[in-house]
Amino acid sequence: MTDSYSRKIQLAKKFENGVYFTCEMCGSCCRGFKDGEVYLYEDDIKMLAKHLKIKSTLGLKKFAKKYLKVIDDSFFWKEPGAERGKTYKFKSLGFKFTGDDEHCDFLKENECTIYKARPFQCRAFPIGWNMLINNVSNFNDYSKKCPALQNSLDNKGKLYSREEIIKWANEEYEMEKNYFFEMRRNDFNIFKVYPFLSKDMLHE
Ligand code: SF4
Ligand code: SF4
Repeated sequence: MTDSYSRKIQLAKKFENGVYFTCEMCGSCCRGFKDGEVYLYEDDIKMLAKHLKIKSTLGLKKFAKKYLKVIDDSFFWKEPGAERGKTYKFKSLGFKFTGDDEHCDFLKENECTIYKARPFQCRAFPIGWNMLINNVSNFNDYSKKCPALQNSLDNKGKLYSREEIIKWANEEYEMEKNYFFEMRRNDFNIFKVYPFLSKDMLHE
């Protein structure tokens, strides 16, 4: 969607010329989710269903019950021409985490078992995460768990250009915005957007 009103992607000064990043495959970002979530959007679910060969609604229902959870989300939106915007609160989907170390169910022996179909949020880390590329303090916080981000702060790793970062960050923003529009069209009722969810997921 061409949208002249969409938020402009902002880069922290440190990242204006790019971000260094080479993942060390330690798996740390796939566990220990006390402070975060792995969000899933419609395209993620379609890709996962295809990858896992889930073809029926019943199959999707079972998948959702086993692997997904309903989480609180928010999105800032300013209507075209409006003076002020507003932060909307609504529900989104994310992965459940399991075990003492709160790992993603798809992490086995430190490897992602759905690597080719992993959600956008996992594919885009960190260069497509607006909250990291526009805020060095968030980047620093995340670097406590991620050795690749520590290296990045020392300008070590593969260099992703400003253009690449903006492309990824725009994609994240568009996904969030499209989901927000879809929710708004459906009275912010996640069960209308995703009919395969069961109501008891709200209380898990
Ligand atoms: S924590 Fe960082 S280095 Fe480790 S797997 Fe995740 S992205 Fe890669
Ligand atoms: S889907 Fe894969 S990359 Fe994403 S959190 Fe789970 S194991 Fe990690």
